[in-house]
Amino acid sequence: MEIPFLSIKTINEKHENSLYAAFKDFLNSGNYILGQSVKSFETNFAKYCEAKYCVGVANGLDALVMILNSFNFSKDTEIIVPANTYFATILAIKIAGLKPILIEPNLKDYLINVENIKKAINKNTSAVLAVNLYGRMCDFRKITEICQKNNLKLIVDAAQSHGAEFDNSKDCFGADAIAYSFYPTKNLGALSDAGAVVTNNEAIASNVQRNRNYGSEQKYQFDSLGTNSRLSELQAAFLDIKLKQLDLEIGRRREIAGRYLSEIINNRLILPPSDKTNQDAWHLFVVRTENRDSLKRFLLNKQIGFDIHYPIPPHKQKALAEFEELELPITETIHQTILSLPLNSTLKEEEVDYIITSLNSY
Ligand SMILES: *Cc1c(COP(=O)(O)O)cnc(C)c1O
Repeated sequence: MEIPFLSIKTINEKHENSLYAAFKDFLNSGNYILGQSVKSFETNFAKYCEAKYCVGVANGLDALVMILNSFNFSKDTEIIVPANTYFATILAIKIAGLKPILIEPNLKDYLINVENIKKAINKNTSAVLAVNLYGRMCDFRKITEICQKNNLKLIVDAAQSHGAEFDNSKDCFGADAIAYSFYPTKNLGALSDAGAVVTNNEAIASNVQRNRNYGSEQKYQFDSLGTNSRLSELQAAFLDIKLKQLDLEIGRRREIAGRYLSEIINNRLILPPSDKTNQDAWHLFVVRTENRDSLKRFLLNKQIGFDIHYPIPPHKQKALAEFEELELPITETIHQTILSLPLNSTLKEEEVDYIITSLNSY
């Protein structure tokens, strides 16, 4: 049996008829920038996230940059961020002209470590940028308490966690603003680049709304130096269609993850955590293993697709040579030992069986 790590084509095939119809409506509307579909998706996604405002932007990186810009932090103030995140989180801080402070995550759930946040805070700290990595929410109750005590903003990179819940709520408790990406492989994926800022703060929402459109609220009137980062009208129409099925698809992800967690029994593999309160959206199912090369060879042989999220930590990237000397042993261990197994709503039961049986024989 050959199982790809992920087939975006198969995921989108399920929506084929609705997507064709949406394109036809889009073409016939004659209104191709910031039209009715963007408005409709913004309303629906805000509601889905249990938040007051959603502003569509061009991609997840821009969502992060525009959130950071909306606070008017003075240059070089420090933003605390987990060292094991995807490169774009840290890139956004650099683009905004601020200073990323990379801290070690928890080894058990790969999320930002609350004690390490406390240790990193000093008079130059302006915000914590937490990342719901792999689809799981951070401990926002504790993080919010620290942020409030120290007068820090709390920003969330939720590019991987559409649909994640804590205590049956999708609200990122206490966060000032949340950045989403709808890159095609995400839990809610467009058919091109797309992103959004979600917030309960009206000032942030209107700031991002103005700045995604050059800094203009009224035609030919420019109030700030913004950028062009509008959410595509066509992608918004596609996203609105896929949003309706999102909870169903996440439900299927949870079913498969549940089977992996209870049926993969192999002491060479460390499985991700799971608990009833923190309801993971299972963007990725990440295991850890001592000898990853051997597991890779095994999976190749079994024709089971896999990926590594991510093989090189940000502080070891050429583009971030300034962090080269940082000692981050937990982050490095994670990057050396993790591997992502196939997990998406299109996996068939017999494919899940095959993956489990194979791994139990590894
Ligand atoms: C995908 C992703 C981004 C970037 O989103 P784009 O839409 O590709 O710009 C940022 N952070 C994380 C954690 C991501 O997974």
